[in-house]
Amino acid sequence: MQTSLTHTQLLIDGRWTDGASGRRRDVVNPATGAVVGTVAYADEQDLAQLADAAASGFRMWRHTTAIERANLMRKAAVLLRERVEIIARLMTLEQGKPLAEARVEVMSGADTIEWFADEGLRTYGRVVAPRNLSVQQLVLKEPVGPVAAFTPWNFPINQAVRKISAALATGCSIVVKAPEETPASPAELLRSFVDAGVPAGVVGLAYGEPSEISNYLIRHPAIRKVTFTGSTPVGKQLASLAGQHMKRVTMELGGHAPVIVCEDADIGNAIRATAAAKFRNAGQVCIAPTRFLVHNSIRNEFTQAFVEHTKGISVGDGLAVDTQMGPLANERRLTAMAHFTKDALARGATLELGGRRIGEVGNFYAPTVLGNVSLDAEVFSNEPFGPVAAIRGFDDLDEAIAEANRLPYGLASFGYTRSIRNAHRLGNELEVGMLWINQPALAVPEMPFGGVKDSGYGSEGGPEAMESYLVSKSVSIMSL
Ligand code: NAD
Repeated sequence: MQTSLTHTQLLIDGRWTDGASGRRRDVVNPATGAVVGTVAYADEQDLAQLADAAASGFRMWRHTTAIERANLMRKAAVLLRERVEIIARLMTLEQGKPLAEARVEVMSGADTIEWFADEGLRTYGRVVAPRNLSVQQLVLKEPVGPVAAFTPWNFPINQAVRKISAALATGCSIVVKAPEETPASPAELLRSFVDAGVPAGVVGLAYGEPSEISNYLIRHPAIRKVTFTGSTPVGKQLASLAGQHMKRVTMELGGHAPVIVCEDADIGNAIRATAAAKFRNAGQVCIAPTRFLVHNSIRNEFTQAFVEHTKGISVGDGLAVDTQMGPLANERRLTAMAHFTKDALARGATLELGGRRIGEVGNFYAPTVLGNVSLDAEVFSNEPFGPVAAIRGFDDLDEAIAEANRLPYGLASFGYTRSIRNAHRLGNELEVGMLWINQPALAVPEMPFGGVKDSGYGSEGGPEAMESYLVSKSVSIMSL
């Protein structure tokens, strides 16, 4: 049981502070509706100090050796692992996900820090063959500069740790605007870097009115790169502001992942993988399977097996040991699920399971399966971002691929097939940033993570993520 309220502060120039105005807002547990803490709100004076600190932190950090940077990052990873129980509990209290999922998020955060720490040691430039033998041509890789990062509430640590790790490994400083609805666990992530000895100004943390903070930081001359994870409409606003101020941008936005289950699929494998991925974090995952396209010859069998599997998911407070799916993180998602379900049913879908709120306390919505969903149902065009699985049939792969590519989104996708030909077709023809075939989504730090089309641009994983925090400088030296 929660006995005392948490209070999450800002981190400015190495100091934890309530900020100049002392403004704060309540943080609510989505499983109970109870206030579990407060979070400090930054005003313009705090943001000015954050940007100045990021500028001075950058001047020092960029001239810290890659080995020293990596050592400090590894210490932060160790601290994060040591503190896993405390941090996971804070995350569950504020965000709602089951404690087991919160633990995995913290532990994989530590893995991410270590992967980027190691990758920072392998950031090489190039020596390019010259046209004149007395000339040496070098391509130097330099950090882009102080970064402003905006991270969402669905994965309070995971979404922040990729940005912080890539920034620190490349020699950039970073100011994170973390989510006000789930502030405590990302603050603990930042604390692990501070306690590991990362110098003042290299990492900063703000909460507040999102639009005030992004408006201020993106325009600020000290900030050289903007990275945002969140919805496509907000991403477009921030990218256009960044464009006006000529800032480097990485955007990880919404998706609407097609799941193509071919007639030759291993249905049991497809069910296990997609049901787990669909209801993890109550479906509030940008790479969650959302548009199930199932070959008509196996659609009934698939739907029934999917429903049977889903019936076994126990929904409850994320702190309870047997909970497999927690509440939705906020009331907006609850309202959206009710709307998507009602709309799909009105357009001829069948309700196979769920389709209702559970109880009146907390934001619980039953795992929901909709069959025979028509293409004009909103849930087949707008990202559900919740525990609603929408299934429809197809007759041939051309049709499924055309439907997968119909939407402006292009983030994650899934294919289930035993045919190598089908697998290659999906790999070549789907307009997405990520594709998993015959397996659940596995977002590992060593692989690129990002989307195309309205799902954004840039990558948050693999060497590609490092590149987006680096600039190339061409240096040519003639010996006299
Ligand atoms: P929203 O569009 O209001 O906010 C999305 C995120 O952006 C939040 O973290 C919010 O704090 C931040 N934000 C909003 N306006 C901002 C601004 N002007 N400057 C800086 N940050 C700003 O939506 P929401 O209700 O919080 O979430 C719902 C939708 O957001 C979902 O349907 C989903 O598409 C998307 N989302 C995506 C991800 C992801 O992982 N890609 C994560 C969370 C939310």
